[in-house]
Amino acid sequence: MTTFAVQYLESPYPDASPEAVRLRLRQACERLPISLVLLGWELTPALEEAVAEETFRQNAQLYRWQPILTGDAHTDLPPEWATLGLDGHPIPGHDNLPEFTFICPNRSAVADFLSERLESVAASGLYQGIFLDRIRFPSPAIDPSRHLACFCQDCTRQAADAGLDLKQVRHTIQSLSAEVLVRSLLGQPDQSGSMLELFLAFRARSISRTVRTLSRQIQSHNLAVGLDCFSPALTRMVGQDLSALDGYANWVKIMTYPRVFGPAGISFELLGLSKWLIRHGLREADTMRLLAEASQLPIPSTKAELAHAGLEPDTLRQEIRRGYELGITNLLAGIATVQMKEIHESTPQQIQADLNSSRAADGLVISWDLWLTPLDYLDMIRNLWS
Ligand SMILES: [Zn+2]
Repeated sequence: MTTFAVQYLESPYPDASPEAVRLRLRQACERLPISLVLLGWELTPALEEAVAEETFRQNAQLYRWQPILTGDAHTDLPPEWATLGLDGHPIPGHDNLPEFTFICPNRSAVADFLSERLESVAASGLYQGIFLDRIRFPSPAIDPSRHLACFCQDCTRQAADAGLDLKQVRHTIQSLSAEVLVRSLLGQPDQSGSMLELFLAFRARSISRTVRTLSRQIQSHNLAVGLDCFSPALTRMVGQDLSALDGYANWVKIMTYPRVFGPAGISFELLGLSKWLIRHGLREADTMRLLAEASQLPIPSTKAELAHAGLEPDTLRQEIRRGYELGITNLLAGIATVQMKEIHESTPQQIQADLNSSRAADGLVISWDLWLTPLDYLDMIRNLWS
């Protein structure tokens, strides 16, 4: 049976009263048999309780949707935990937002912080599961020569223990051409990039180890674990090894967003890489061909088209298949259904086509906010799946 999940209330929207959030969830459940409600991390107790009660009434499970390796409005993370790029400088967050500014999982104080942060959520008694988000390194897409993390002291020491000299890695990466670097990040490595391959593997092990530790802690409370992961074509860039991560979760969501122009959106990330390659002297036509070859995705032939229209719905079919090939056993496809100006403005026809392309997944996650999703889309899903 298909699992239907909703991400709900990423932030406390001004008009989201306890009555309103309860009503919307009830209306959603009348349209679609929702079994998982993934609730945002910044809500007042009154909002949490309203959603928890309605979720229980609907016989669904409530998960906390929890960012891991980033800050949030309530948590100022020490700057000395920042991830450091190839140039040794902290990597700035997207728009300098705390929720998109990453800390390094290998920093010695970070493990204790993560464990404490999770413990208070897990022990609250409100949730049946935790949905781990931001379990990755920052995306280097807008500038791979500076934003590929992490080169901090703790990473350097841990890599050395594993036989990898990060100083040497840095020199090697700096000597690679822009083309070789991007191809490697997208999974088409070249002989000259073997040191980069070792570094990418080291990063992925760092993320997997962190998730394994958190997952065991969550399971010790008898709670379930869901993971929010990049779309498979882009996971190497951020240190997510889907085959390893699958072993630590009840289900894995992949962010198969073909037309999202914000972090983790496939078109956003590819656009970042395309602009960087063009700045480094590649012709536009060669850039788009390179990205299509290396990612094996149906990428338009011009940057303007990618920026305007994003990717085709078939992207979802391909990425879901790739997710299974990489070893995900219970795969939920993230379907972007929010309406957000300049971030996601797909038409109902495009959403319908995206849904049609997602049939092979074990389930869908309404992403990334039921609050911002037209309820008609839930009818569309029910009609397609019935
Ligand atoms: Zn580090």
